[in-house]
Amino acid sequence: MVMDSKIVLIGAREHNLKNVSIEIPKNQVVVFTGVSGSGKSSIAFDTIYAEAQRQLLETFSSFSRRYLPKIEKPKIDEIRNISPVIKIDQKRMGENVRSTVGTATEISTYLRLLYSRCAEPMVGPSFYFSFNNPEGMCPECSGIGNKITVNLDALLDIDKSIAEGGIRHQNYYPGGWYWKSLKESGMVDMDKPLKDFTKEEMNRLLYSETIKIKANEHYGLKYVTFEGIVTGLNRRQIGKDDIREREAKYFKIMPCPACGGTRLNDRARSARINGKNITELSAMELTELRAFLDTVTGPVADPITKPMKVRLQHLIDIGVGYLSLDRPVSTLSGGESQRVKMARQLTCDLVNLIYVFDEPSIGLHPRDVANLVKMLRRLRENGNSLVVVEHDPGVIEHADYVIEMGPGAGTLGGQVTFTGTVAELKSSNALTGKYLNAREHVQYRRRKPAGYIEIKNAQLHNLKDVSVRIPTGVLVCVTGVAGSGKSTLINDIFIAEHPEAVVIDQSPVGRNSRSNPASYTGIFDDLRATYAKATGTSANLFSFNSDGGCPKCGGSGFVEVEMHFLDAVQMTCDECGGRRYKAEVLQYQYKGKNIAEALEMTVDEAIQFFSGERKILHKLKKLQEVGLGYITLGQPLSTLSGGECQRIKLASELHKAGNLYVMDEPTTGLHMADVERLMGIINTLVEAGNTVIVIEHNLDVIAAADWVIDMGPEGGRKGGEIIAEGTPEDVAKVERSYTGRYLRELLQ
Ligand code: ADP
Ligand code: ADP
Ligand code: ZN
Ligand code: ZN
Repeated sequence: MVMDSKIVLIGAREHNLKNVSIEIPKNQVVVFTGVSGSGKSSIAFDTIYAEAQRQLLETFSSFSRRYLPKIEKPKIDEIRNISPVIKIDQKRMGENVRSTVGTATEISTYLRLLYSRCAEPMVGPSFYFSFNNPEGMCPECSGIGNKITVNLDALLDIDKSIAEGGIRHQNYYPGGWYWKSLKESGMVDMDKPLKDFTKEEMNRLLYSETIKIKANEHYGLKYVTFEGIVTGLNRRQIGKDDIREREAKYFKIMPCPACGGTRLNDRARSARINGKNITELSAMELTELRAFLDTVTGPVADPITKPMKVRLQHLIDIGVGYLSLDRPVSTLSGGESQRVKMARQLTCDLVNLIYVFDEPSIGLHPRDVANLVKMLRRLRENGNSLVVVEHDPGVIEHADYVIEMGPGAGTLGGQVTFTGTVAELKSSNALTGKYLNAREHVQYRRRKPAGYIEIKNAQLHNLKDVSVRIPTGVLVCVTGVAGSGKSTLINDIFIAEHPEAVVIDQSPVGRNSRSNPASYTGIFDDLRATYAKATGTSANLFSFNSDGGCPKCGGSGFVEVEMHFLDAVQMTCDECGGRRYKAEVLQYQYKGKNIAEALEMTVDEAIQFFSGERKILHKLKKLQEVGLGYITLGQPLSTLSGGECQRIKLASELHKAGNLYVMDEPTTGLHMADVERLMGIINTLVEAGNTVIVIEHNLDVIAAADWVIDMGPEGGRKGGEIIAEGTPEDVAKVERSYTGRYLRELLQ
């Protein structure tokens, strides 16, 4: 079928894409690379994946589609030969408390079957061992292993009235839909501070059953629904991971006292195979479990252990053999979640799928990157196509086909700058090709430590009584295979003892769609002041969160429509067209542009436009310095990637006095050209007398560090020790160190 051998995109214009037309070969490992912000995700996720999702919805009956909002077609003229797309990103697999590594990979299903057939005493069918079944679950916690209560402190601001925003949950923003329903119902006092509510009033507000009530005066509605806030929280979270995740902060979680968190009842826990009960096997590291299964043999056991071993081997191969089946997926890092999702796909029987990966090398030591490449190839051999957004040279070098986006970021990018094989890439003028060739000829300069900070006898998780010296006044890299204990040592132990450290991680800077780069960095305050001064009005008028906000959407720019079986859908507000402001505000201009237009500018554009405004300029330049010149001032922070979040934090911390910086994989999302710039910033920090500690897998960064602390030797119980410490040259001499082996090759 020659016709179908390529996915064809014609005229893609999503975000910064400049009318991009490309052909993406099917049944190959295709890597998209290019500097951060060049448009890789805009093609892979916002065009290819989004269009496949839309086409899938189109196949629903017209009856069910009447109840679905129309999902907008991505900005593209035409896409040909698309097939179902599976997205494998670093998004956590949800906070569903019933979801563990075992359930997510189906290994637990086989394990229960194994106990029901092979355990002593033989106690019955496999659902006796399921914590999701009434026959197996601990009756106390209903198989959750935890007790969950609503965290009222997080939910309510008791000094405020409901009218003033006393309910912190996003649905109840003053002016929002739920808030209006509360108001219209007449069931609660909107103006009384919550702390003055009687017990009965508070109970009604929180726990009332769902009832329909005639509205007082209506926003086009005769009836409104009244429902206690907690009742609503509980109702909406059932079975919906995405909502659970968004609302996790409103829940408090404690281990169940009856089953000690094992989730199973006594009968289930008394059955044994070779002396071990099912909870013990679930708590083993996957590598240990794999070995244990070799001791369980016989005609009944073999057909069950065989598929288990296949699945376990996939997880081990991909570098997460140190996890256990009972580990809740909600505690996995982004990279770990991604690898579990990937292993799950390897046993999927469907063919002709398109897999879209977002930087699968994140969190992986160079040792495991080779296995990652094997996995990608295995998916290809199974008859699928792979689109991989990736920066790691170890992955790029093994791609069947490379597409480079560029030449710059944001408005300076959005074009295809190279397509072809890796060999062609290396002999081309493309940026990525140049960096791949240049890797071998770098000169390093090592700085001397100013002093040392000691960590003594650390024992958390897998750490084996670790004592180590961390040099100051230099760049320190903490390395080691995934699960060796790097985050435990640095994030859990070191930072806990040194609260003065400035931590720059990749956690979201704000889930709130109302914050943006301008508000986060304080530029928005200056902007509002500038507009007020220029127009003789008040600064408040230029805030979409208060006076200036569009009355229909309350300044959010969109209206959220809740859907029963799918994710809630956000639709652009038709009143303000998504611009968040009321029309009156937009009449006021500074240098011919209104405030909404100012927020649509990129940092680079704003630097030109606000050239006379010293304060604004100073803050904008910090964003530019960390390579974020391409982001727009008003882009919701919730749309920024992990790497962009990290850099925006870096920008606001850059010139602070704090002299101890800790960063977790700062190269995430960065092309080799971006890494070079990041190293420039880090070196500036170090030269100014600061200490910078980074957890990193990127060999170019490790080789450029002044000092390396290598952990291992393996992940999990076989890790948790310091394997080597010193300059990269020192570490390169240590035979037992995986990092050392890779450094040796690079430093030669
Ligand atoms: P890459 O994946 O190469 O890092 P992206 O495709 O994420 O780049 O971004 C390309 C451009 O599109 C950038 O300027 C980015 O700021 C912009 N962009 C990305 N997502 C959004 C969004 N949701 N809204 C507006 N602009 C966006
Ligand atoms: P690294 O940062 O080197 O990848 P980690 O410090 O995350 O390694 O993990 C070290 C060990 O501690 C692993 O065995 C991991 O499974 C375990 N671990 C990490 N976080 C948790 C947690 N929240 N609960 C239980 N075990 C954990
Ligand atoms: Zn229990
Ligand atoms: Zn609006």
